[in-house]
Amino acid sequence: MHATQTARPFRVYTQLDIGQMPQLAQIDSDLLLGMKAVSSVLPFRVNNYVVEDLIDWGNIPNDPIFQLTFPQPGMLAADDLERMRNLIAANASRETITQAAREIQLSLNPHPAGQKQLNVPVLDGQPVPGMQHKYRETVLFFPQAGQTCHAYCTYCFRWAQFVGMADMKFACGSPEVLVNYVKRHPEVTSVLFTGGDPLVMSTKVLRQYVEPLIAIPHLLSIRIGTKAPAYWPYRFTTDPDADDLMRLFEQVDKSGKNMAIMAHFSHPRELQTDAARHALARLASANATVRCQAPLIKHVNDDPALWATMWREQIRHNAIPYYMFVERDTGPKEYFKVPLARGYEIFQQAYSKVSGLGRTVRGPSMSCTPGKVVVEGVTTLHGEKVFVLKFLQGRNPEWSGRIFFARYDENASWLDELKPAFGEARFFFEPELDEMARRGHAQVWHTESPSAVAFEEN
Ligand code: SF4
Repeated sequence: MHATQTARPFRVYTQLDIGQMPQLAQIDSDLLLGMKAVSSVLPFRVNNYVVEDLIDWGNIPNDPIFQLTFPQPGMLAADDLERMRNLIAANASRETITQAAREIQLSLNPHPAGQKQLNVPVLDGQPVPGMQHKYRETVLFFPQAGQTCHAYCTYCFRWAQFVGMADMKFACGSPEVLVNYVKRHPEVTSVLFTGGDPLVMSTKVLRQYVEPLIAIPHLLSIRIGTKAPAYWPYRFTTDPDADDLMRLFEQVDKSGKNMAIMAHFSHPRELQTDAARHALARLASANATVRCQAPLIKHVNDDPALWATMWREQIRHNAIPYYMFVERDTGPKEYFKVPLARGYEIFQQAYSKVSGLGRTVRGPSMSCTPGKVVVEGVTTLHGEKVFVLKFLQGRNPEWSGRIFFARYDENASWLDELKPAFGEARFFFEPELDEMARRGHAQVWHTESPSAVAFEEN
């Protein structure tokens, strides 16, 4: 199938191109200055496929893919925006602009949900900064060469990875570290490669990480979190090593493990090009499972009809609707956030419009410090209007599946803005979470492995 397609050269546009791109020539000069100001603080990167095939340039600035990929003035607080606009308009030195940008970046909660304090595991007494082990069964691995993306999402919760703050970066360049860690942790059944986007790596480099994992018996699945099917579908079809990538996925499948692509689709338009459809067909032919997830984002996808369409398109193209996330409490959240109450309505309305095949999706779900918490409902109990919340995953595995209640608040957009219902002083998990933070690590599970116990005690 792919042989009939023509290879497409990859061209990338970054901050310095904002003044040069022909598509931006007609844009209001005030908006352009605002875009330059924002892109000096938050990462900007887009490619020719997104610009030429996904954005509707007749609908700027409201076009959802434009909002998804190009910096928007509202992404900074008014005084921060003004400060950066003034510096750029005055042709301030690069050092001055970088210094001002760094101060703003540090005020934007660069590593939310305790990622640096609580999730970094220890191997042979040393922290492994390119890995996170938050939930017992799953290890997240950040391969060093996979820490960019084919384009950047404006709302990205990993934005700190892309702005050159060395101490803000999770990355590991050693496949051996990953393999040793997983071998010593029999409780780990799944490795999730993440980033950035691991599929910016060549297949040759990716293979060095994936192949040794195939031989670990207790591992059931290898997952890759990626937006390549949406931002650069040619990665699976006509790029020079696309065939080799398919062979690698087939190799994982033939070894008896599940090869899973955790595909990030933010808008149905990303599924409606021939290029994206060919990519999904190729993944299916390599027996890779595709599961789809995205956050619910104001200006991009805060519309139930759009989610219902997206889930239907996913089913049509062999992909499984998996998660609707809540935008995280970091970076430009104020611009993109959707309150939990509205998020729940959007999820419910979309959910009611799809067949059972689409109801594999969970949401709206917060990946917050104690775990993955989904808003299951809004109801009235004992005369009090409450959110019904449920742990899908917990730092303590015993929290998973537990229901708890919070006072209804139509403006709250994150767990830490909620108060326990029924006059309780604290949520049930908070004392234990405090204890984890005091110890400086969060893993409470036990394994037979002596190394694992040492890790637990570190
Ligand atoms: S693809 Fe993922 S990691 Fe990359 S910018 Fe988008 S949300 Fe961030």
